[in-house]
Amino acid sequence: MRYISTRGSARALDFEGATLAGLASDGGLYVPERWPEFSRDQIAAMEGLSYAETAVHVLRPFVGDALSEEDLRGLCEAAYGRFSHAAVTPLKQLDHRHWLLELFHGPTLAFKDVALQLLGLLFEKFLAQHDTHLTVIGATSGDTGSAAIDALAGREKVDIFMLHPKGRVSEVQRRQMTTVLAPNVHNIAIEGNFDDAQRLVKSIFGDAQFADRFHLSAVNSINWARLAAQIVYYFYAAVRLGAPHRPVAFSVPTGNFGDVFAGYAAAKMGLPVAKLIVATNVNDILHRALSEGDYSVGELVPTAAPSMDIQVSSNFERLLFDLYDRDGDQMASLMRQFDAERHIAIPEATRDKIGALFTSTRIDADAMALAMRKAAEHAGEIIDPHTAIGFAAAMETQLDPHIPVVTLATAHPAKFREAVERATGQRPLLPQRVAGLFEREERYETLPAELQAIEGFVAERAQARA
Ligand SMILES: *Cc1c(COP(=O)(O)O)cnc(C)c1O
Repeated sequence: MRYISTRGSARALDFEGATLAGLASDGGLYVPERWPEFSRDQIAAMEGLSYAETAVHVLRPFVGDALSEEDLRGLCEAAYGRFSHAAVTPLKQLDHRHWLLELFHGPTLAFKDVALQLLGLLFEKFLAQHDTHLTVIGATSGDTGSAAIDALAGREKVDIFMLHPKGRVSEVQRRQMTTVLAPNVHNIAIEGNFDDAQRLVKSIFGDAQFADRFHLSAVNSINWARLAAQIVYYFYAAVRLGAPHRPVAFSVPTGNFGDVFAGYAAAKMGLPVAKLIVATNVNDILHRALSEGDYSVGELVPTAAPSMDIQVSSNFERLLFDLYDRDGDQMASLMRQFDAERHIAIPEATRDKIGALFTSTRIDADAMALAMRKAAEHAGEIIDPHTAIGFAAAMETQLDPHIPVVTLATAHPAKFREAVERATGQRPLLPQRVAGLFEREERYETLPAELQAIEGFVAERAQARA
């Protein structure tokens, strides 16, 4: 399998190349040259498989010759062996048609672990075959940072620099990053918001000389391997609810459009996905883009679901690439226009191509809190604010009542316990696996949201460790 850039001019790479590169050199994102397809029989054959074995089946066509099947199996078993639930991503029933897919049983309590635990092992495996040192740079609204740091801490040949918006991640999120004292982990608190952090990371990658010198790589959801790993749980859940014989809908709390793009990929690969509900909070650029074609950057509003407080959704470019018939040149000019004007209009005829699959909903703070209370009252389930936005959107969306609707539960409620307590009156306990978090020493650097300051810090630390 080869991977091409959404902006048409970067060299095509294999799975190993795309995994290690992260962002393409022309500023675009890597996507598979074509979508692999599974027949109904192949999907039916996933019934009863363990999570790790499902991952081997789903990932094999994406990995291609980059790993033997035996190696892939070994990595999947190691990655998912670290989860605290034997089903890895268990389904829970909320009522006769609503389900939760719990994606937060990994080491840092959010769905990012599902992809990053595997990505950490892929990095190590691929780097072992080369004499290269990798510098991972990422921006986080909270959960990617902790999951990436857990996955990469102490690994040889990798340094990780993680930028988070100062004061805008929850205390649990911050401590999960800053209490990891491994020498290859460098936390940076940016004086700005998440979009500032994300823009800085993009600028660093855009500085070709710097990127070459330090062998930069990305662990944000712009990294294709992450999205590939997320496709697995759509198959795993749908097969348990009756696919391929029965279609299933998914409601996805969305920020950077990575998780829901994995659902789109699953549909492209033949999984009968009845609907993908793109659930946003009041930072609703995706809802405006999908419902009205208005992809324009608004004012960022901090909410109780900080991992969705995003205005520029990087992975939306991957969907646009398909919508614009995979025309890289057109995408490059469209994204240049977006960078300059902070706006693009998506014509209705273009949107119509995905109208049957996607729908979107904007959920405000009241609807979010109501969804938390409903899950608690109707099913005894305490859900986190992000999951609540997904569940609220699932309840609002009109669908054939025979279709099961799966809300992706993206974070453990204890990660956002103040918001959960405010809505439900119940204070979720931190699971045993993160006990002691509040007693540990923290380490991070505070820097202004300026390219020079960040590059200077990265260069100094990376050289000191070279
Ligand atoms: C990252 C995150 C999201 C958003 O996922 P995207 O892939 O960025 O759309 C939603 N909920 C939680 C808890 C997250 O950590």
